[in-house]
Amino acid sequence: MDIEHPRRWPRWSPLRSSDSSVNAYDHNEEPNVIEAESLDYEVIENVAYRQDQASRGKLHYASYVAFKWLSVLLIGIATGLSAFFINIAVENFSGWRFSATFTVMKYSYFAAFLVYSLFNVALVFSSVKIVTKFAPAAAGSGIPEIKGYLNGVDMPGVLLFRTLVGKIFGSIGSVGGGLALGKEGPLVHTGACIASLVGQGGSAKHFVNWKWLEVFKNDRERRDLVTCGCAAGVSAAFRAPVGGVLFALEEVTSWWRSQLLWRVFFTSAVVAVVVRSAMGWCTHGNCGHFGSGGFIIWDVSGGQDDYSFYELLPMAMVGVIGGLLGALFNQLTLYLSSWRRNILHKRGDSVKIVEACLVSLLTSVLSFGLPLLTKCTPCPDAEKYPDIICPHSEGTYGNYVNFHCSNPNEYNDLATIFFNTQDDAIRNLFSTKTLHEYSASSLLIFLGMFFSLAVITFGTAVPAGQFVPGIMIGSTYGRLVGMFVVNLYKKLDIDEGTYALLGAASFLGGSMRMTVSLCVIMVEITNNLNLLPLIMLVLLISKAVGDTFNAGFYEEQARMKGIPLLESRPKYFMRKKQAREACQSQKVVCFNHISKVGHIVSVLQSNNHHGFPVVNRLQSGETVVIGLILRSYLLVLLQSKSDFQTSDSHGDIRGHFTSRHRLTEFAKPASSRGLSIHDIHLSPEEMELYIDLEPFVNPSPYIVPEDMSLTKVYNLFRQLGLRHVLVVPRPSEVVGVITRKDLLSEPAEDVYLDEHPAVRV
Ligand code: ATP
Repeated sequence: MDIEHPRRWPRWSPLRSSDSSVNAYDHNEEPNVIEAESLDYEVIENVAYRQDQASRGKLHYASYVAFKWLSVLLIGIATGLSAFFINIAVENFSGWRFSATFTVMKYSYFAAFLVYSLFNVALVFSSVKIVTKFAPAAAGSGIPEIKGYLNGVDMPGVLLFRTLVGKIFGSIGSVGGGLALGKEGPLVHTGACIASLVGQGGSAKHFVNWKWLEVFKNDRERRDLVTCGCAAGVSAAFRAPVGGVLFALEEVTSWWRSQLLWRVFFTSAVVAVVVRSAMGWCTHGNCGHFGSGGFIIWDVSGGQDDYSFYELLPMAMVGVIGGLLGALFNQLTLYLSSWRRNILHKRGDSVKIVEACLVSLLTSVLSFGLPLLTKCTPCPDAEKYPDIICPHSEGTYGNYVNFHCSNPNEYNDLATIFFNTQDDAIRNLFSTKTLHEYSASSLLIFLGMFFSLAVITFGTAVPAGQFVPGIMIGSTYGRLVGMFVVNLYKKLDIDEGTYALLGAASFLGGSMRMTVSLCVIMVEITNNLNLLPLIMLVLLISKAVGDTFNAGFYEEQARMKGIPLLESRPKYFMRKKQAREACQSQKVVCFNHISKVGHIVSVLQSNNHHGFPVVNRLQSGETVVIGLILRSYLLVLLQSKSDFQTSDSHGDIRGHFTSRHRLTEFAKPASSRGLSIHDIHLSPEEMELYIDLEPFVNPSPYIVPEDMSLTKVYNLFRQLGLRHVLVVPRPSEVVGVITRKDLLSEPAEDVYLDEHPAVRV
């Protein structure tokens, strides 16, 4: 029963075609298909599993719970420290770059430009080199891939140790090199990688192997840890622990359990404590240029804390602009990334390296050149605004930058944005202390330039996040609208900084389409609860406007990368399709419960399916399905050879069988291919032997009648996180009916305890 299926993700096309084809998969138009496996979240209650469970006592359960909490503690600490390390490195590289540039600038602008651009290109070069040569999966933000993982798709390479290292060092290069991207998305990926490594007890390949953590070595447990890792990443990136929990819940996970909420919350809290303590260590100049900046907290608590009715319309306008620009950003990055993926990056790593260096050079030319064309402005009154450093006490740079100004008491507003780290630039844009700190023309130039750079930069082969560029773009047009409103309602006490904040929220809402989590993150990072209703308003508007044009940024990117995400709702056409119509082949590849080794090998060689029904052929000629066996199990059995037997006879497995395998042996490491049939080498004699598959099958796979609507099957898949569902004819008999009363624990538990008194405490 061999089937030749191409190994690819098919796409349903009935929405576009009303043809009568039963299996309407569109193979020809799919722009990107990936080689990816699904994850197995199901508990495989085979004989080995049941024996393992029976051998576990109360102590085992207690230690399992303790390990769970210990592992999330480890994830929190490691993610917090990674974020701290990235921040210190980025701030220091930026500090060195600016001090070198401004020192040389006293002698020659051209030499200063050379120093500035060489510094940037060198850092970006190191980043792209790390990614292309060492950790290809570290490119981009990583959030679409993690979304895919938590939706049930295991993308190769995404959660490996080398990806973690590449992500950390690559982010330092790309963000420190001044590209129009941020480190927040990569930090989510970093947290997820750490979580996955903790879940599988380290990385055996890199000689870090904690056997005691292997209790989590299965897809189900690892999924929960990766969820904690994502929340930890956001918590570390923004110092927003509650935002981290909500981000995991709203944006990345597909399945959520109330028990998981506790652990995610705990991880985020640990990160917040670790980051805070590490920052405390840096207060007295221990960390070079790293001071209060870096970890995002753009405190606007002293600014506008009330708003008038007349402002609601302009604020809503900010939401509309955010929706339009966010959707435009998604569309442009999608076109460009897909062109890169399908054409440019296929030409090899050297093209990727040259491309990233050229983008870095272009960024340097624009960020150095445009402020040269801008007129300088007198500094704000030092007595009135003592906090403002204008120019910096050393006469070079500070939060108001004196760049190409004839008078030392002047600043260049465009350079104030460009010659600062992104965090400091945003702090300036959100600034509520003075009015008219930026001229409209400078903001417009910056908006056009930074928007274009952000579009061009995303998709280069470096780690890249979209939060901070989004905030920069949004706060720029927000501030522009703010300036307009200040002029319009001169009598009202309106702060441009408030509009900058709303602009940032609106752009992120229009691009990423998150609502609750973004709202909480914005409140946490700006420390101003008074603006909460306004942030909610602009987020809702921008999301609604953006949704009319395209899908959210991460969904679009996941689609472009060919990650087959199961969305939360089935498509309409599925109501009209039945389960049997969805099976690509009507000819099922299955095994006898006692199969010849040679037969198993030839079946595994002839197709790429990962699950096979196992049947028992009765003497009467009937067949009984006894379960489903995974390819990974078959490969382990073939490799170990310990279950080979000479005859095709079969004993009472429940009575006599003792598993020779630990359950963790069957688990595949995350993001790697695991065993392949090509790794199995058997002699002709071994090919003639038999294996009894019954102890290893999942005896209770999910089964649906062939005429069940595809909508119901979809919901089953999505809600339970299934990988395989067997489609069977209508059953001929019913042995019972289970209702909710049968599932209420107390009566059932009493009966169980009466039958098994040893289990009672
Ligand atoms: P996944 O790709 O999610 O890890 P899988 O690899 O087991 O699962 P595929 O081989 O990708 O499944 O499935 C491709 C098509 O092959 C599907 O339409 C499915 O109906 C069919 N298919 C899967 N397993 C079998 C099988 N054992 N016999 C016949 N058809 C199968």
